[in-house]
Amino acid sequence: MMRVTPPGTRPTPVILVLGSDFRQAMVDVLTQRYGREYEILAPSSMEETIEVLTELRTGQRPVALAACEFFAGGEKATHLLAKLQKFMPSARRLVYVPAQRFRGAVRQLHESLAEGRLDLYLMLPQGPRDEEFHTAIAETLSDWAQSGSYSEIDGTRIIADGPSPDLARIRDFLDRMGLPNTVHAPDSPAGVAALAVAGPDTPLPLLQAPNDDSLLSNPSNADLGAVLYGRPTDIGEDAVCDLVVVGAGPAGLAAAVYAASEGLDTLVIDQGPIGGQAGTSSMIRNYLGFPRGISGMRLAQRARSQAVRFGARFLAGQEVTGLRLGGGPEGSHVIELGEETVRGRSVLIATGVDYRRLGVEALEGLVGRGVNYGAAVSTSREVKHKRVFVVGGGNSAGQAAVHLSRFAQHVTMLVRRGDLASSMSSYLIREIEGNPRVTVRPRTMVTDGGGEGHLEWLNLRDLDSGDDERVDAAGLYLLLGAQPTCQWLPTDVARDERGFVLSGADTPWQSWQGGRPPAPYATTVPGVFVAGDIRCGSMKRVASASGEGAGVVPLVHAHLASVAN
Ligand SMILES: Cc1cc2nc3c(=O)[nH]c(=O)nc-3n(C[C@H](O)[C@H](O)[C@H](O)COP(=O)(O)OP(=O)(O)OC[C@H]3O[C@@H](n4cnc5c(N)ncnc54)[C@H](O)[C@@H]3O)c2cc1C
Repeated sequence: MMRVTPPGTRPTPVILVLGSDFRQAMVDVLTQRYGREYEILAPSSMEETIEVLTELRTGQRPVALAACEFFAGGEKATHLLAKLQKFMPSARRLVYVPAQRFRGAVRQLHESLAEGRLDLYLMLPQGPRDEEFHTAIAETLSDWAQSGSYSEIDGTRIIADGPSPDLARIRDFLDRMGLPNTVHAPDSPAGVAALAVAGPDTPLPLLQAPNDDSLLSNPSNADLGAVLYGRPTDIGEDAVCDLVVVGAGPAGLAAAVYAASEGLDTLVIDQGPIGGQAGTSSMIRNYLGFPRGISGMRLAQRARSQAVRFGARFLAGQEVTGLRLGGGPEGSHVIELGEETVRGRSVLIATGVDYRRLGVEALEGLVGRGVNYGAAVSTSREVKHKRVFVVGGGNSAGQAAVHLSRFAQHVTMLVRRGDLASSMSSYLIREIEGNPRVTVRPRTMVTDGGGEGHLEWLNLRDLDSGDDERVDAAGLYLLLGAQPTCQWLPTDVARDERGFVLSGADTPWQSWQGGRPPAPYATTVPGVFVAGDIRCGSMKRVASASGEGAGVVPLVHAHLASVAN
């Protein structure tokens, strides 16, 4: 018997437990901790499961977690979960394994995890208070709620009369800042109440922050950022920060945590929400210390609150437009934000790069699940004996194809031009030509793709004939190029021909003091540092960006000490 949702309340999310011998044990473990806030349902046959899921779908009841025994009545858990996925597309998929079968199961489950066919596997607890088990369950449920699948929290209310680019922009900003939000129609009780205060003709979307009577009509990103962190004028006209960090991706956030924790007066500025490129990644699997992976948004939010706890200040939705070197008090640098300015004794450039996107919406939803921006070397083993595709005709695409061919059954390079000659080094072209496991398909583009929880197929279009072909694909690697993002820097800060900032021994020798290159991460201007993807020669990974950000802080101390003397 399922719970009935009283009118006007939100439906209770469901945890579905499937299995045979150990199903009841799993139900007992979950009921004790989660039975008050989730409904635990445990159908005993496939027919009953389909019936339950159909009923849930009709009643718009979300399934938060589907837990399936490693072998449920003779069927493999991953097969069962795949069959059911269309009934519960947002549910997180867990395979639980009784202790006595765990050793034998791990290898198989590890592969399924790598292939994106499940979200986690756990050993069935051996006794009460297995906190490791419950931490994993709680994190999974929290990821599910945070991914927009469901939120009980009313949070910020947005009054909107249907989808629009502004509504999408505002929700994306709030989501990435970790702020729960709900959309209400103008004729809903929340909409009527808000419009009664703002006036019936107020342009929508209209935003009402929780516990706040003020209303914002179609707020810009700067307005949204100001609600949370204030505006540049709040920093104080005469204030000079020890360190101003431009860019709040992993590099900027790591610098902020280390600098603020070491007592430096630190200000971080971002033109968007906090988190950078990493904040847009649905699952980062290769970041140290997160064996089950972590969503980029969650990682960014944790780093931001860590930095705030140490005293770092933030400005969000504020674009840095210029840098006046030594133009502030006591030789400090002036950071321009349009008409407004802030000042720093030292500046860290951590503005990252803009990855060119493929622009196929269905595939953006599978990033991290077979679709990868960049070579994603860590995924190589997952594509063993499978067909993969690399999009791009540059050297990085060629290197990725050669690397992947050591693992995949076959690699197809998709290139818009007629050949590789104008975009790739000739040694690499020769290597690809001689590699039987790599094929180049010129004049071809990807127009669609999909799969159940993981990439399974692509649609390829021949640009000359216009013909479409659907192909099986286990991996798609997008190497479309990355643009550096700091045209606002003065020319004194040396950059390479593509616009990446030079540091350390890469800087022109003419700028070296006393015949010695500046320290790593130091640019050609004293007190101006660089870290992360924007640095020439960087590795373009979350871990390397955060390591570089942290590595800048001792240099900031040394610079502050030198200008104080
Ligand atoms: C879809 C996707 C998935 C990825 N997955 C992984 C993964 O699984 N593992 C991994 O290790 N790496 C992954 N990466 C790469 C990783 O995200 C980057 O290497 C990392 O984010 C670089 O950090 P960063 O701090 O240098 O720059 P970014 O994260 O790019 O942050 C730069 C910030 O600077 C801000 N900014 C830019 N210009 C200005 C300006 N003028 N004023 C104010 N602010 C400005 C931007 O808004 C941005 O927030 C992924 C990248 C993408 C795009």
